[in-house]
Amino acid sequence: MNVKKIIKTVFFTEIIKGMALTLKSMFTHAVTRQYPEEKRPAMPGFRGMHAFVRDPETGREKCIACGLCAAICPSQCIYIYTSEGPDNKKVAERYEIEVLRCIYCAFCVEACPVGAIALTEHFEYSDYSRDALYMDKERLLSNWDKYMAGPRGEEYFKKFWHPVSADFQAYDGQPVFKRG
Ligand code: SF4
Ligand code: SF4
Repeated sequence: MNVKKIIKTVFFTEIIKGMALTLKSMFTHAVTRQYPEEKRPAMPGFRGMHAFVRDPETGREKCIACGLCAAICPSQCIYIYTSEGPDNKKVAERYEIEVLRCIYCAFCVEACPVGAIALTEHFEYSDYSRDALYMDKERLLSNWDKYMAGPRGEEYFKKFWHPVSADFQAYDGQPVFKRG
């Protein structure tokens, strides 16, 4: 044991330091917020309640039922039941998320090729029943209407989730492999 450590042990310097800090904080303003009376807005890009993007042109979901979100979901909590639409295209007859198992990683958002699923900034949705936290397509679409419709949704995809081609550029001096 070196001298410094012996002095610290004998004179309880760490405890004294801790008590001094406590004493100091007793005369400063409390930083605790009295939630739910006192709220602050969620940080932009916060990963909250899921929403299904509504196509403004058709009024329907943008989802093309490719299943990529369900395949990438680490919690395996997305369930998609597909059928053939009137124009012979695959449609998501049912799209469900078991929110209680979700870890809010947003992989589903990033994997989606058409930007059809989003995580809204809304986080106040605790409930007493499991059913209330099982989202079906209609609930997901109404979440979009409530929290993300219009410019807010556009901004969301532009800023936070959807990788754009500008994200995949070579850095200066990156080796390039050429054929022949
Ligand atoms: S946020 Fe992650 S865990 Fe939740 S549904 Fe999407 S991929 Fe699954
Ligand atoms: S939400 Fe996106 S990734 Fe998931 S099935 Fe629909 S189109 Fe595919």
